[in-house]
Amino acid sequence: MKKVNLFPLILILIMLLGFSLSRTLFTSLMEEPIDTSRAIELINGGHIKKASLVKDKLTLIDDDGKGYRTIIPMMLQNDFYNDHLKDQVEEKNIVFAPQSSADEGLFSGMLPYLIMGLGFFFILNMLFRQARVQNNNVDDFSKSKAKRFQPSNGKTITFKDVAGLEEEKVELMEIVDFLKSPRKYANIGARIPKGVLLVGPPGTGKTYISRAVAGEAGVPFFSISGSEFLEMFVGVGASRVRDLFKEAKANAPCIIFIDEIDAVGRKRGTGLGGGHDEREQTLNQLLVEMDGFEKNEGIIMMAATNRPDILDDALLRPGRFDRTVHIGLPDVRGREEILEVHAKDKPMGDDVDLNNIARRTPGFSPADLENLLNEAALLSARANRSSINKDMMEEASIKVIAGPEKKSKLITPEEKKLVSFHEAGHAVIGYNLKKTEPVHMITIVPRGAAGGFTYSVPDEERYYHTRSMMIDEMITLLGGRAAEDLMLGDISTGASNDIDRVTKIAHSMVARYGMSKKIGTLNYSDDQSQTFLGNSIGHSKAYSEDILKDIDTEMREIVRYCYDKAIEILKANKDILITLANVLMDKETIYKKEFEAICSGSYNPEDFKDEKLNIY
Ligand code: ADP
Ligand code: MG
Ligand code: ZN
Repeated sequence: MKKVNLFPLILILIMLLGFSLSRTLFTSLMEEPIDTSRAIELINGGHIKKASLVKDKLTLIDDDGKGYRTIIPMMLQNDFYNDHLKDQVEEKNIVFAPQSSADEGLFSGMLPYLIMGLGFFFILNMLFRQARVQNNNVDDFSKSKAKRFQPSNGKTITFKDVAGLEEEKVELMEIVDFLKSPRKYANIGARIPKGVLLVGPPGTGKTYISRAVAGEAGVPFFSISGSEFLEMFVGVGASRVRDLFKEAKANAPCIIFIDEIDAVGRKRGTGLGGGHDEREQTLNQLLVEMDGFEKNEGIIMMAATNRPDILDDALLRPGRFDRTVHIGLPDVRGREEILEVHAKDKPMGDDVDLNNIARRTPGFSPADLENLLNEAALLSARANRSSINKDMMEEASIKVIAGPEKKSKLITPEEKKLVSFHEAGHAVIGYNLKKTEPVHMITIVPRGAAGGFTYSVPDEERYYHTRSMMIDEMITLLGGRAAEDLMLGDISTGASNDIDRVTKIAHSMVARYGMSKKIGTLNYSDDQSQTFLGNSIGHSKAYSEDILKDIDTEMREIVRYCYDKAIEILKANKDILITLANVLMDKETIYKKEFEAICSGSYNPEDFKDEKLNIY
């Protein structure tokens, strides 16, 4: 039997109710209730500009736009209308609108309608949602939520939009070719991979390149996230999987993309509470479906994860995700190309050197780089510029690295002095050591969590660090604390991040890279970078107390040496340190050229007086 849909009826009822409600609510909210004698008083007072009388309701609006409302008692109505009001109106030049309140002003007249409209919108929205839940039950929810990717604004991503990743593209080209002509492969009996697992840290372009494969092959792209399988109702996940494959088969050749596959694909039997839970059912269904379609049916599964170590082995067997493509962070050339791709649709100033930016952003993911360009564009728009210039890129990259500038945070003069000496300490030492990155900018404006910021950028990316580089880095990091100690005779908590980093470096030198004679070339660290790929849970090794003690002693010794070195350098450059700290206190942010002039001893403040280096 067909259900009678009461939905529109209810809606109309609610609309009517809403109208009358909001109307009375509005008028009673805006106008002060008064009694009749006060109304007459007001009119006689000569401050009333407009009046309206609708049935027995009198509304007055005075010079200031303030409204009054009164109900004229039945017995007085005739009198009032015929004598008083009319006379008064004529005498006092009150605009009198007997039947409507339309000339109360366009805005106030329309406000209730606006409120009403908005109200309806929300009610409608809510009702639609409810209706979906009530009428369609679980069945509709179990429909695969896979979004078929329609290229928005007619722009499909293809391989030429994917910068770098040359080897990965070659590897995926085979799949593109298969999707273009599955027949060719079928006829020759070639076995094409069924599934490709993309592995890599967040923001490296796993989703992006999958879409590019679909775009390159010109086939539909069905995308669903692993967590979307597991929503709301028990038993839904498995049927969503079924549905997804049904839809894909009807649209083959195509790509099914499962983002965050680890959400469903975690090793079975490890779920809390154990046993046959919802997730495992979904995973089983996924495996069944993957086995269920023929290898040359024209469907390619792609999936992305950054935790391949926790995936169920069954997923990685032949005939399932039988190919893995690792996507890492881009190197300097990759970064430049990525910047180029995303700079293409933005007006870039002539002074922007993307190569330079690429060299100074090691560790940035493609997503970070895209974000950087976007931030620069936002800053430019805010400054009403028609193109993005170098300064904007500078500010944006600092913003992406360190979080937005905290302009609102007030710092006391003492704090300012402390931070100035702290940062000057880092910078002066950095300048005096060979194996450190050149200082690009120093600021005492708080950014993100940091009180100040010395921004050193590598000239080039490095894959290896030598012992002397690490020592120099530690001396530089300790320079902040050393400067506070030396110049102010007191030390602060501002060095806590520096100390963290020093500790990490010292520890890895001793316990990981075998750079201490006493410990020797053995790795005693719980290798951090291995947690990414290995099964690291519950894997910490136990070492003897003696070894731990030795590591500790060695670390202390290295750090003590570095700290003494820092003090030594600062003592030798005391004048420069003081000049730099003073300039910092004054200008808050200084850039490379000025900094180098100060350090080289040839500083003339006049040279930097009107140089507009501070963008804001
Ligand atoms: P993931 O799925 O690995 O977390 P995404 O695919 O969402 O990362 O990538 C984030 C953004 O980075 C994309 O929207 C895209 O703009 C950009 N991006 C990623 N890889 C590249 C690339 N190779 N070339 C150009 N832009 C890229
Ligand atoms: Mg993604
Ligand atoms: Zn510091």
